[in-house]
Amino acid sequence: MCSDNHQHDKLVLCSQCDMLVALPDLEEGNKAVCPRCDTLLTAKWKEPRNQPTGYAVSSLLMLFLACLFPFVSMNVAGIVSEITLTEIPEVMFSEDYSSIAVFFLIFVQLVPAFCMVSIILLCQNIKIAYRLKIELARILFQMKTWCMAEIFLAGVLVSFVKLMAYGDIGVGLSFLPYCLFCLFQVRAFQCLDRYWIWNDIESAPKVCIPLQAGKPGLVQGIRLCQCCTAILPAQQHQCPRCHSKGHARRHYSLQWTMALLVTSAILYIPANALPIMVTQTLGSHINSTILEGIILLWNAGSYPVALVIFIASIMVPLLKMISICWLCWDAKSYGRYNSETMHLIYEVVEFVGRWSMIDVFVIAVLSTLVRMGQFMSVYPATGAILFALVVILTMFASMTFDPRLTWDKANKKFELQKNEES
Ligand SMILES: [Zn+2]
Ligand SMILES: [Zn+2]
Repeated sequence: MCSDNHQHDKLVLCSQCDMLVALPDLEEGNKAVCPRCDTLLTAKWKEPRNQPTGYAVSSLLMLFLACLFPFVSMNVAGIVSEITLTEIPEVMFSEDYSSIAVFFLIFVQLVPAFCMVSIILLCQNIKIAYRLKIELARILFQMKTWCMAEIFLAGVLVSFVKLMAYGDIGVGLSFLPYCLFCLFQVRAFQCLDRYWIWNDIESAPKVCIPLQAGKPGLVQGIRLCQCCTAILPAQQHQCPRCHSKGHARRHYSLQWTMALLVTSAILYIPANALPIMVTQTLGSHINSTILEGIILLWNAGSYPVALVIFIASIMVPLLKMISICWLCWDAKSYGRYNSETMHLIYEVVEFVGRWSMIDVFVIAVLSTLVRMGQFMSVYPATGAILFALVVILTMFASMTFDPRLTWDKANKKFELQKNEES
C-alpha cells in the first residue's frame, strides 16, 4: 500500500544523519531543523520565488557593473597601477599562469554567475525543457560550495594590508558593486530552499513502504535521493524525479575520501616547501613560501592578517586532513566518540575548508596589481598552483565522505527496537 501524498509531503529524510522527520506545519519565515543533528531540513520563505530571484538579478547586475570599471589601484612613488576584474585572468593567461587564471574565472565569476542565472530560471518557472530544468537544479546545488566570490573579496582585503607598506592603495568604482555582488549571491542562496524548489519542479515520488518518523531511513529500508531530497526505497538506485543514481550509503565513500586525502597530503609538502610567489624589486628576486609570507607580515606588524593567513593556509588544510582521517577511522571502526561530536567536526570541516583558497586569490591580485617593471613586480610560482590543488582535493575529500556513516553506529538501538516489534 502506497503512503498517500498528504502524509508523504510531511516527511523528510535528513541528509546528514538519515533520520526520518515529520515536518510540522511551518509558518512563513520559520525553519525546520533535524531534531537529531540540527541540520536545516527546509524553510518556509515569505516569497520563495521572488526573493531569491530579486537577489540573483541584483547580484548579476552588480557583477556586470563590477567588470566595467577599475577595481583597485596602487600608487608607488608616483607610478600608478590600476586593474579591472577582467584583467586578473587576462594577465595570468598572457604569462603562462593559466591554471590560476582558470581557478579565478571558474570560482569567482563563472560558477556564481551560472548559479544566479539558474536560480532565476528555476524560481520564475521560465518555460524551458523539463530535462534542462532538472539538470540545472542538479548542478546548482552541487556548485554552491564552489562559489568563492566572498573568499576572493577577503583575499583582496588581505592584499591591501600586504601592499600598504609599499604604497597607497585605492579602490575603484567597481569595488562597491563587487561587494554588493558577493552579498546578494550569498543571500540568493540563503533564500532558496532545496526541498521547495524540487517540489516545485515535480512532486516527490510515492513510497510504497509504511514509514515511521523518528527512525533512521536505513532501518526502515528507505534512502534519501541526495540530489532532490526525495524518499526512495533503499533498493531503488535511480530516482524517478531527478534521474540521479545513488545507494542507501555512498559506494566506496571511505575509499574515495582516503584516496583524495592521501593525494592532497602528498601535494601539501611541496605546496609549502616551494615558493608561492616571486617578488622582483630593483633587480633582486625574492622567492617566498607560504610560511615566509606570514613571517614577513608578522615582522611588519600586521599581526591580525598574519594570523588570518596562518590559520587559513597552514592550520586549516592540516587540521582538515587530520579531521577527515579521524572521521573515516570513526566511520570504519565505530569509534569511541559519540555521533554528535563527530558530526560537529564534519560540519566545521565542510564550512572552513574552502576559505583556504584565500592565499591563492591574494597571489592572483598581487601579481596582477603589482606590475611596475624593474621597480617592483610580483609573479605567481609553482607552490601557488600546488596549494590550490591541495585545497580543491581536500574539498572533494570531504564531499565524497558520507556523513551518515557517522550516525550509523547509533542505529543499533533502532534495529533492536525493530526486532522486538517483529
Ligand atoms: Zn539529521
Ligand atoms: Zn532525486
